[in-house]
Amino acid sequence: MTAPTVGVLALQGDFAEHIEMLRRLGVDAVEVRLPAQLVHIDALIIPGGESTTITRLLDIYDLREPIRRLGLAGLPIWGTCAGAIVLAKQATELDRPNLALMDIDVRRNAFGRQVDSFEEDIHIEGIDGTPFHAVFIRAPVIERCGAAVEVLATLEDGAIVAAREGRLLATSFHPELTGDTRFHALLAKLAAAYHEERLRPVK
Ligand code: GLN
Repeated sequence: MTAPTVGVLALQGDFAEHIEMLRRLGVDAVEVRLPAQLVHIDALIIPGGESTTITRLLDIYDLREPIRRLGLAGLPIWGTCAGAIVLAKQATELDRPNLALMDIDVRRNAFGRQVDSFEEDIHIEGIDGTPFHAVFIRAPVIERCGAAVEVLATLEDGAIVAAREGRLLATSFHPELTGDTRFHALLAKLAAAYHEERLRPVK
């Protein structure tokens, strides 16, 4: 049995932190910059950073369509912060096309200038144990969830900050910055399931 591999889109942003978290869990993690590197991955993380830059680089590196196709075919994809903006069907103030894979609409920089960054302990559906320490940095909020989308976490005021649609995950916050590997473990589980499916011969 081969082990699943998780790719981390490494065009811009905090991809190194995601790789570190995955390796801490013993998960094979690779940086993805070229379409050919998508071939062997069983899940993809789109990191936080600047969504305008990431979407521009997706086009320059010819990655937008191949990632979109894989997402439609069932590849687990998790977007954190800017990554969630890249995954969303619609995002405010984004000047170029994103992946538009996940049936959510997000508002960029939703928490205003004064509170650019904050941290809060939140409960996340499907993650047991102590509350998750969530770090928000110029974070987006999820303003609309389609019928197939499950809300995984909200702030006290009801703002949606984590959601799931099948194998697509979006978080407004940055689990890669906290040392808490539980969210990465969740993605690793989805990657393992996808990996097994891929290896099973098609009848
Ligand atoms: N504000 C950034 C954007 O809109 C996201 C910030 C982040 O990823 N920490 O792309």
